[in-house]
Amino acid sequence: MADKINAVKGMNDILPASVPRTDKLPDSALWHWFESTVREVLARYGYQYIVTPVVEPTALFVRGLGEVTDIVEKEMYSFTDSMNGDKLTLRPEATAGIVRAMVEHNALYNGPLRLWTAGPMFRHERPQKGRYRQFHQLDVEALGFAGPDVDAELILLVRALWKQLGLVEGQHVRLELNSLGQPAERQAHRDALVRHFEAHADLLDEDANRRLHSNPLRILDTKNPAMQAMVEAAPQLMDFLGEESRAHFDAVRAVLDAAGLSYRVNPRLVRGMDYYNLTVFEWVTDQLGSQGTVCGGGRYDGLIAQMGGKSAPAVGFGLGIERLLLLIQGLGLAVPDAAPAAYAIVTAPELLPRAMVVLEQLRETGLKVVLHAGGGSMKSQFKKADASGAQYALVFGADEAAAGELTVKALRDGQGAQQRRSLSHVAEWAASLQSRA
Ligand code: ATP
Ligand code: MG
Repeated sequence: MADKINAVKGMNDILPASVPRTDKLPDSALWHWFESTVREVLARYGYQYIVTPVVEPTALFVRGLGEVTDIVEKEMYSFTDSMNGDKLTLRPEATAGIVRAMVEHNALYNGPLRLWTAGPMFRHERPQKGRYRQFHQLDVEALGFAGPDVDAELILLVRALWKQLGLVEGQHVRLELNSLGQPAERQAHRDALVRHFEAHADLLDEDANRRLHSNPLRILDTKNPAMQAMVEAAPQLMDFLGEESRAHFDAVRAVLDAAGLSYRVNPRLVRGMDYYNLTVFEWVTDQLGSQGTVCGGGRYDGLIAQMGGKSAPAVGFGLGIERLLLLIQGLGLAVPDAAPAAYAIVTAPELLPRAMVVLEQLRETGLKVVLHAGGGSMKSQFKKADASGAQYALVFGADEAAAGELTVKALRDGQGAQQRRSLSHVAEWAASLQSRA
């Protein structure tokens, strides 16, 4: 046998639940259910679907995300196109690409847009539970809206998604909220921060020293325990916000309060990308260890102009699909049954053509029917029928065929009960299987 070729480290297959696997990754039925739930919830709010390329010019992310960010400094999969020397990157996040597309197509010309996409993102990180090198995000963006109404809408939309998925807000997932103010306010805060860090220079680690002047805000994001107390005592941006920024934040909060959504104002919530201003938020869980952020986003009013477009405000979020599904799986939340309504057993090859015509008619009514392809003994076929989770076995046998019929046998409720049905009047009885599915 030839050598096996395995997937790239940190990049995973999403497989049907029937395939045994040792890692804890979500199965494809859960994944599929999540995607259809997302489509339904986003449609309720009038968000439109968009697809952008997985590969973009490297400059897009360097300019969009900021040079001194974890992603741009050390997490990007960048390469040179061997055909023409172009510098390219596998997208580490979706916002920059969507903004690029909007600017390229002058898409905001006719007014603001509500958009969403979902797909793979790539970051060269140390793989662990909830952290992969290829992972998937749901990404929702509202472009051309100044807020605060849309900021609150996006947060409420995520809450609606939690509800639809069976997650309890406040228990399984909690909202954290902050305002980053405007650039001038951040500058004043930043100056005060640098003074604070300089006064505690002895406590700064290597990362912090490097960022002290390039991006001191990111020092607040440190995971170094030795720096926690010093970071907690640092001046808070909230105290540097002007009247307008405060009013924006208060207006977002007023909607959330009216909607009965509880949240924690977390002054240390700064987010990993440089482009954010005003509202930022994260949905976090205690159930996934240090990979506890399932969704994060905020306002990025400067990004569109920075990408060469006509200045326009925007806000959005990214949700980590693997992390969210790990959470749902870990909580053992009930997921709608993906089992077929019926499993078809054909006892002899010559009966197959007629049987398959009937199955086509059944499926046309919307029924989920799986054919036992490949033949085999009745016993082994019934075993498969049972394992499929189907409610009914449809038996196409010689006796039945001679009478122009098939046998419908209940596999679960009323187990063993069976009825003969006509092969030529499928529509008459198809509904009776449907109602049980
Ligand atoms: P973290 O602090 O955990 O690295 P982040 O701030 O880098 O997260 P974002 O860029 O805000 O993450 O991405 C949005 C969401 O995408 C995260 O909240 C998380 O759920 C998910 N995510 C980010 N990186 C990964 C990864 N490497 N593997 C799986 N999911 C990820
Ligand atoms: Mg990260």
